[in-house]
Amino acid sequence: MNDLHDRHRRVLPDWLALYYDRPLEITHGEGRHVWDAQGNKYLDFFGGILTTMTAHALPEVTKAVSEQAGRLVHSSTLYLNRPMVELAERIARLSAVPDARVFFTTSGTEANDTALLLATAYRRSNTILAMRNSYHGRSFSAVGITGNRGWSPTSLSPLQTLYVHGGVRTRGPYASLDDTAFIAACVEDLKDLLGHTRPPAALIAEPVQGVGGFTSPPDGLYAAFREVLNAYGILWIADEVQTGWGRTGDHFWGWQAHDRNGPPDIVTFAKGIGNGMSVGGVVARSEIMNCLDANSISTFGGTQVTMAAGLANLTHLLEHDLQGNARRVGGLLIERLRAAAAQDPGVREVRGRGLMIGIELTRPGTDEADPDRAAAVLEAARAEGLLIGKGGGHSTSVLRVAPPLSLTVAEAEEGAAILERALRGTR
Ligand code: PMP
Repeated sequence: MNDLHDRHRRVLPDWLALYYDRPLEITHGEGRHVWDAQGNKYLDFFGGILTTMTAHALPEVTKAVSEQAGRLVHSSTLYLNRPMVELAERIARLSAVPDARVFFTTSGTEANDTALLLATAYRRSNTILAMRNSYHGRSFSAVGITGNRGWSPTSLSPLQTLYVHGGVRTRGPYASLDDTAFIAACVEDLKDLLGHTRPPAALIAEPVQGVGGFTSPPDGLYAAFREVLNAYGILWIADEVQTGWGRTGDHFWGWQAHDRNGPPDIVTFAKGIGNGMSVGGVVARSEIMNCLDANSISTFGGTQVTMAAGLANLTHLLEHDLQGNARRVGGLLIERLRAAAAQDPGVREVRGRGLMIGIELTRPGTDEADPDRAAAVLEAARAEGLLIGKGGGHSTSVLRVAPPLSLTVAEAEEGAAILERALRGTR
């Protein structure tokens, strides 16, 4: 064990997840690459769990952050905060939420927590509908709505949570149904839940489940849910922490694949928008955002430095059409990975949208998850200089590929070739 790993284990919690038998210490990055403390170079196909949205050490973000840090680092509220107003205006416009208000947080967890605060206060109900296999964060209330048991360490939630089918296609009682029948079955399941309770405050869902293994429900699932929600006056919260900002290629927001009737009532975001700086937040129409009848502040949510990062990063993303790049390069990458997996009896599915691609591994000839092989593929890829992620439901048997959105075709091919070899070597 290297010395830093030893020190890590002595002082940090056991439940703080680390990848690899010999954990990596990453010391710097540039573009789509990172380097470890021993000087080894890696092509980064996971971007620190989709945190590096555009590129590592993007010069515009570095410049904006260092200039702002040299000028002022101060509390984000109590005084007028120009970069916060500017980023809020841009996100409000991009969100398409009518009469939108934006509140900034320091993480996705806190964004979802805020969404729950708003929804429960607005609807005067502490019941929440959440999806099976979902992940929404690590606070007391966020673990209470997280359907993925592997990431939900206590059941003593302050909320009553009802879990709905629909986030996962490859497992569960509806796995063999086609899209239309699958959506109909999930809608029936939702209606059945609602028949037994006072109307919940909201349904929260990731348009593509991230930690749960990049599972894509059929397009239109949430539009079908929404008809039911509307009938009961239940809000729809889209957790766009992983799917926002063009990640899925065809759309800027993940919800757009589902619902052509317009934006959700509440949208939460985090991760990539700050390109590694801690920017999260909530968008809601003012009637919902302003339903709280007590004051609030946030010392760090929306500080000048993180807002400067968000503004520079968003400008770069839009000016370079990185959403289009995610669609084009992601399309090539998924085809290549599908071809590589076609002859592999241990690959159940290669799925995804844009630069959010999952490879689900099962023990050949069975439906049983294969977390051992997933771990072996991660190690094999690392040995050849490629970092990927893993995720999935009750066991982590889905390989996750989510590089920075500026990935080039040559880098996609290089990474795909390494993954092909890692898959072949672990059969
Ligand atoms: N929601 C989703 C969909 C996520 O993937 C995550 C983080 N993996 C979170 C919320 C929590 O975000 P954070 O780690 O910034 O608290």
